[in-house]
Amino acid sequence: MFKLKKTLWILMTIAFSSLADAQSRRELNALQSPFSLPALSYAVEALEPVIDRETMSLHHGKHHQAYVDQLNKALGDNKLTLLDVLKRTREFPPAVRNNGGGHWNHAFFWTVMSPAEKSGAPSQKLEKDLIANFGSVEQFKAEFEKQALGIFGSGWAWLIRTTDGKLKITTTANQDNPLMDIAIEPGQPILALDVWEHAYYVNYRNKRADYVKNFWKIVNWAQVSKYHAEK
Ligand code: MN
Repeated sequence: MFKLKKTLWILMTIAFSSLADAQSRRELNALQSPFSLPALSYAVEALEPVIDRETMSLHHGKHHQAYVDQLNKALGDNKLTLLDVLKRTREFPPAVRNNGGGHWNHAFFWTVMSPAEKSGAPSQKLEKDLIANFGSVEQFKAEFEKQALGIFGSGWAWLIRTTDGKLKITTTANQDNPLMDIAIEPGQPILALDVWEHAYYVNYRNKRADYVKNFWKIVNWAQVSKYHAEK
């Protein structure tokens, strides 16, 4: 039975390896090198006007592709899962940390967004947890925005579940990730926002605050609730 389950699991992992409809963090973590660029589950213009077509097209097709290519190059013949890459950054040159984080972070980021009309709302369970940890959903959003705006230079804002089971907002510099061995505040990512200038500069110029505020209109709450429900 266990063997059958394992076989089915492997087959499912292969079937979902495009991440076009990512269902779990586990599937993302289980991707194997050499890595490839996951397809988007929506058109490059689908997030307009919050994220314009040109930004999306460059961000996915050029930036993310470059992280994938550079990661494969840096790993050479090493066969690793994407989670191994994040957990073993100390063993490899900095290119693995930077591009491994770049690949994981972007593959995850695409899935936490959706066209505005499909944005939806947090599950009851997630809403309850946000209220318990931040006072209200609105207070959570305000705190997330504050931390996203507070990042000096390039980085990411995250909602994570910490090892003691609490929800926490945290930030990482460059392409670092809360799952990494070097993470200062480790945890399981539930939501992520890319605040590198390449994520918003075409449309918003220097107005990061507008980009961060508008992000809520395109959050894929069904997917974020799935990540929250996952251990
Ligand atoms: Mn980016």
